[in-house]
Amino acid sequence: MKAIILLSGGLDSTLAAELMSREGLELLAVNFKTPFCLCDRHSSNLGCGSNAHRVAEAIGIDLKIINATKDFLEVLQKPEHGYGANMNPCIDCRILFFRKSKELMDEIGASFIITGEVLGQRPMSQFRRQMDLIEKEAGLEGLVVRPLSAKLLPPTIPEKNGWISRERMLDIAGRSRKPQMALAKDLGINDYPCAAGGCLLTDPEFANRIRDLIKHDELDMQNIDLLKAGRYFRLSQSAKVIVGRNENENKMLTLLAKEGDYLFGPVSINGPIAVGKGAFTLDLLEVACRIVARYCDRDGEIDADISYKRLPDSEGKMINTNFLDDEELARLRTLTAAT
Ligand code: SF4
Repeated sequence: MKAIILLSGGLDSTLAAELMSREGLELLAVNFKTPFCLCDRHSSNLGCGSNAHRVAEAIGIDLKIINATKDFLEVLQKPEHGYGANMNPCIDCRILFFRKSKELMDEIGASFIITGEVLGQRPMSQFRRQMDLIEKEAGLEGLVVRPLSAKLLPPTIPEKNGWISRERMLDIAGRSRKPQMALAKDLGINDYPCAAGGCLLTDPEFANRIRDLIKHDELDMQNIDLLKAGRYFRLSQSAKVIVGRNENENKMLTLLAKEGDYLFGPVSINGPIAVGKGAFTLDLLEVACRIVARYCDRDGEIDADISYKRLPDSEGKMINTNFLDDEELARLRTLTAAT
């Protein structure tokens, strides 16, 4: 009997995979990649995938990583079931992942899917009503096994048909992680990654920036990468600037800047790199330079020399400018938040 398990690499899905591998099933693990995963984001370009790889290898099951970015961005712009507390479209996101899992299930001849979901753990997608809705819309009614909470849910087709034992399923519910930690200990799982993982879309400040991109019809991968790599300021309806916070972000911004974008940076002093995107008037170029000056090591000076150029030009221009004060910066941040 083949089944697909959705494996994020976090504790819950790791436990579900371990439990179900003991049922004698032939499992294929699937990990969905989106640009907003916070788990292990510094480790490699696999993001969460690197945790999932480790878990799949430890359990001895194959893993398929599916990059769901394109579909996810469509869902994010107009989620049929709305957003959670911030810009997290959890119900539509789960429907998307379940639909893709069903496609794979049909393709490889698997009979059902398994998740590490815990009843009542997440208000938007793991309450009973939402679980039922997600299953139904994905065309998977009765075919989703959630081993951690199965005893609290109606029997699934795999349980009714005796493909797996309902007796061996569990009755964990709620937000406490203690039962899962105890279970991990029992199963000999000592290293569970991604405990503090999550999704950037649940972060209120990041959500403001995403809202701003959507409002200005700018939700694409370059813009998403840029806003993950620095401070974000909306200067006008058609211009924004992203300012690096450290050396790594400065390098990242330099790499991400494309033809037509502006690059700003300090001359002769230490300070950040910034990328400007959109239509910049001379006034806006000066505002961007003043923002860069704000974050330079000016050594008590009010003014700083800031250079800017429009890519691919190699020659830039330089202006000597004072820095934008905190009040003006706060106003620009409010502009982003208000969108
Ligand atoms: S928190 Fe993010 S990744 Fe998780 S279900 Fe919601 S939108 Fe999807």
